[in-house]
Amino acid sequence: MSDELQRFKEKVLREYPRLSKDDTFKFACKPGISCYNECCGDVNIFLTPYDILRMKNALGIQSEEFLDKYTITPFDKNQNYPVILLKMQDDDKHTCHFVSPDGCAVYDDRPWACRYYPIGMASPKENDEEVESAFFFLLNEDHCKGHGEGNEMSVAEWRIDQGLDKYDEFGELYKELTLHDYFARGKQLDVPRMEMFHMACYNLDKFREFILNSSFLTRLELEADLLEKLKEDDEELLRFGFRWLKFALFAEKTMTIRPSALGGLK
Ligand code: SF4
Ligand code: SF4
Repeated sequence: MSDELQRFKEKVLREYPRLSKDDTFKFACKPGISCYNECCGDVNIFLTPYDILRMKNALGIQSEEFLDKYTITPFDKNQNYPVILLKMQDDDKHTCHFVSPDGCAVYDDRPWACRYYPIGMASPKENDEEVESAFFFLLNEDHCKGHGEGNEMSVAEWRIDQGLDKYDEFGELYKELTLHDYFARGKQLDVPRMEMFHMACYNLDKFREFILNSSFLTRLELEADLLEKLKEDDEELLRFGFRWLKFALFAEKTMTIRPSALGGLK
């Protein structure tokens, strides 16, 4: 974890009220509010694999182009796995590439963090003494005038309202990798495994090219219709990528190697 993230985590644990799914809050963000668009700049937004899938498809571009144009990949020697941040523009306010006078230009496919705001979520890691179980918290920042506006809503209702179901489903699968006890045991991925993680999670179109244009899939026992789905369906491909990473990085039995290929699959 970077120093900045560690400081943020400590601040959340110290200062922010914890919320359960049933706790309520009052918040609304809509055109006309005095701070409209103010939060869409100079901000660290971590992108999940599903965020990237949704945004690159909304823009009609390949994952590689999306990563090149709109993201940065910060690296810290203590990092367990590669992370992706949304790149801000190089203007005075460091505005997001997608903010427009009418709001977010990719609103239907905006990232997880933008959907959840002003709710944040903390998850425990293996042996985490500070966080025993997952909880939500309310970010109440001075510049944001949406607090106290609109109807009272529970966190659960907010999640439905913001279309978070699919994001949460894929978020849970992603956490099975990022919070894996492999890392809690102090192990680190080497460079080739970091690259595998990056490709299968974030560079989906390259991952598809890799598995379809190599002998990779011929070495695995696959479900009957999976190959056809992997050719077309990004969500299926991402699920398969998560499965492969558990197999390749953490030696989980999520895949079966054909007997004829034993000894050749890495
Ligand atoms: S993606 Fe959309 S909602 Fe998120 S910071 Fe950018 S403009 Fe704002
Ligand atoms: S600062 Fe708050 S109310 Fe203002 S645009 Fe951002 S989320 Fe909405």
